Amino acid sequence: MSIQSNGSYPQARWSLKAIFPGPTDPAVDEAVAALEEAVQRIEAARPALTPDIAGNDFYALLKTIEEFTELAHRLGSYGQLWFSEDTQNQDALAFMGKMEQLLTEAYNRILFFNLWWKGLDNQNADRLLDFAGDMRYSLEQERLFKDHTLSEAEEQVINLKDVNGINAITTLYDMITNKFVFDLEADGEKKQLTRGELMAYVRNPSPEIRAAAYQELYRVYQQEDSVLAQIYIHRVRDWASEKVNLRHIESPIAVRNLSNDVPNSVIDTLLDVCAEQAPVFHRYFKLKAKWLGLPVLRRYDLYAPLNTTSGAKIPYEQAVSTVLDSLNAFSPEIGQHAKRVFDAGHIDSEVRPNKRSGAFCASILPDVPPWVLVNYTGEPREVATLAHELGHAIHALMAANHSVLTFHSALPLAETASVFSEMLLTDRLLAEEQNPELRRDLLVEAIDDSYATVLRQAYFVLFEREAHRQIINGATMNDLNTLYMANLQQQFGNAVDVSDDFQREWIVIPHIYHTPFYCYAYSFGQLLALSLYQQYKTEGDSFKPRLLKILAYGGSASPNHILTEAGINMADPDFWRGGFNFISGMIDQLEAGA
Ligand SMILES: [Zn+2]
Repeated sequence: MSIQSNGSYPQARWSLKAIFPGPTDPAVDEAVAALEEAVQRIEAARPALTPDIAGNDFYALLKTIEEFTELAHRLGSYGQLWFSEDTQNQDALAFMGKMEQLLTEAYNRILFFNLWWKGLDNQNADRLLDFAGDMRYSLEQERLFKDHTLSEAEEQVINLKDVNGINAITTLYDMITNKFVFDLEADGEKKQLTRGELMAYVRNPSPEIRAAAYQELYRVYQQEDSVLAQIYIHRVRDWASEKVNLRHIESPIAVRNLSNDVPNSVIDTLLDVCAEQAPVFHRYFKLKAKWLGLPVLRRYDLYAPLNTTSGAKIPYEQAVSTVLDSLNAFSPEIGQHAKRVFDAGHIDSEVRPNKRSGAFCASILPDVPPWVLVNYTGEPREVATLAHELGHAIHALMAANHSVLTFHSALPLAETASVFSEMLLTDRLLAEEQNPELRRDLLVEAIDDSYATVLRQAYFVLFEREAHRQIINGATMNDLNTLYMANLQQQFGNAVDVSDDFQREWIVIPHIYHTPFYCYAYSFGQLLALSLYQQYKTEGDSFKPRLLKILAYGGSASPNHILTEAGINMADPDFWRGGFNFISGMIDQLEAGA
């Protein structure tokens, strides 16, 4: 396969052979046995865990933990990837369930190491970090929580009570909302849809269908809104009572900032700049209303397509060669990494019944090409998705020299390569496309995506920040609806007409239930990547080594360390404004007639 040139990769199912030759292959049992053996070695080292443990003994233990983690990644990912190929496959489901159980038990048995490490005095921790080699940052990260860790007995009680407490409550949220069925009349027939299928209609050319899709979404959620709101209120109270009151973390959002290892002031600056720059998108929404022939854009029309006629499909092989060419033109090294995913047969691009929808990239082990799943039907926006997921794979392969514990990029930097790859593709397509209508479509898609990733996500977090404050003071569902409407008014100004049904949008966002304040990572990642892209446009070739270096770090140093070395000051509001300037530039091109 390696002699194939760009573009000759047919649409295919992936191969998981690099993880295991097959689900019943003896290699699976061998890995399970090796995992058990590694756990026993870690357990046997427990008596040696004293503050004065010798550096070499500590390093040997870390290497065993690394070995354990590699085995756990292989065993855990095989079932998940197999299940993604076919979500009705009972064998895959059983394999996945069995491994989940096995791995949870194994992790529990070695949990004592983490607790010991977090409780160790600073002097000895610093001494031992010098022996940790490439695993250093993963250990530093765990110690970020050292001042907020309770006694072993208290930690155990919290873990136990969480299983049947807050974790069970948020599972109920999923159980209730995953059962929802949505009715929509479209294309001359009455349909029963999942939420994912329903939301595809918010990009429909018909204004009536777009409105009907949103109205149906909120009609169904409203039937359970008091239960769903109560679940959120408990989630928020639990967050405050455990993390702020018991663990003494400064504020609800500071909990997330600490796990991302980003200073509170940086996230405040990021959110302030997003609010300050909202008018960039107001300008875009006003232009979009004009192009759609509307006096003012309704919230229902936010993702309306401008072009209702083209409907052109892009063959898969053409999509692949365009993406690989755009990457190669930037850097042959990066292009080569993307090509490895295809050569290894690690991309599942076919559309098949029961295959998982959407797209993702799973990096399992360093220096093994990651697995990429897309559902490619030929829609132009799917070419950007392909570039995005390959960007994640490139990031992982750029960091192949690191340990399994540190090659994964930290959350705030995780979207750097993916968004950058998308921008390389968009720029290339714009350079090649002469038809002004198609050029306009390309820009509109890129700006719509930027809105959904940057501004929308930042405003979710601004809502959360205030909701966490108000709920502690007794806010009700109606108070939260009012708060959410005020948030939307600020977000859209007079550029978008927001109808009342959007007041309960917050109850349809799973992230705010499952991982509070997670969403700013999207704004962070996208603005970072756009700012870097803006720097690339300004500086040209001399910029490239800086990006490659950022990517090559993977997750082996803190975001602050990696970005500072690349000459980026994340505390500077102008850095974040740079991302908005780039979006503004795309809107200028649109206004000038593409
Ligand atoms: Zn991504």
